[in-house]
Amino acid sequence: MSTVDEVAPDVFRVAGTAVNAVILRDGAALTLIDGGYPRDVDTIERAVRSLGRRPEDIEAMLLTHAHIDHMGALAAFHDRCGIPVYTDPTEVAHARRDYLEQATATDFIPMLHRPGVLPWLLRIARAGATRKVSLGGARPFQTSGARPFRTGGPLDLPGAPVPVATHGHTSGHTAFHLPQHRVVITGDALVTAHPLSTAVGPQLLPPVFDHGGPDTLAALDHLAALDADVILPGHGPALSLPIADAVAEVRERERR
Ligand SMILES: [Zn+2]
Repeated sequence: MSTVDEVAPDVFRVAGTAVNAVILRDGAALTLIDGGYPRDVDTIERAVRSLGRRPEDIEAMLLTHAHIDHMGALAAFHDRCGIPVYTDPTEVAHARRDYLEQATATDFIPMLHRPGVLPWLLRIARAGATRKVSLGGARPFQTSGARPFRTGGPLDLPGAPVPVATHGHTSGHTAFHLPQHRVVITGDALVTAHPLSTAVGPQLLPPVFDHGGPDTLAALDHLAALDADVILPGHGPALSLPIADAVAEVRERERR
């Protein structure tokens, strides 16, 4: 399977290690949304080059939330090329690692007997899951770290993504809406598959990954209100389904 799929005109899903990144193309310029694990950087660079562009052509990078499986190439390209990274004002401190809202290895010990858990842990460890990555001033060559984007309306970036606050999975989690394509990039607020889940279709991540509890469910209301029928999640394949229907499926699943 190709690692790059065009899910809508100039909207590309890039498959990393059981996690997705998204490239928005606008002429010569790109926006990169999320960046896989640290060792997914080569996969994402290949995807950029397969579009006839270089990492330096990325005008800006957006982070749905500061989990290690979404930050890899962002930190690498930020350090290497000085490309700015923007995230929700609430998520900036998380990206800078002033605090951490992320499952650690010990959280998975009670799950090790379940099929697929150990192979997945080994796979993500190879992808750099245990590395310490931050988008902050920790390293002297870092230019600025993550910065807050302006909220309320489309961002002045290639693809004109509209941030949708979906705080819950992390305190400052954000989805991005592309109204012109009826696409919603849901990050981890709503996914379509995960190696630790046997469910198929729209779903929340297993609770071990969530930090917001009730907020994670409340965030779904903000997704359901969007005019979108292509779902591009942080984990799992893209899905052609009205987002309101996908949210209804998730709520039904959570009630069981
Ligand atoms: Zn996450």
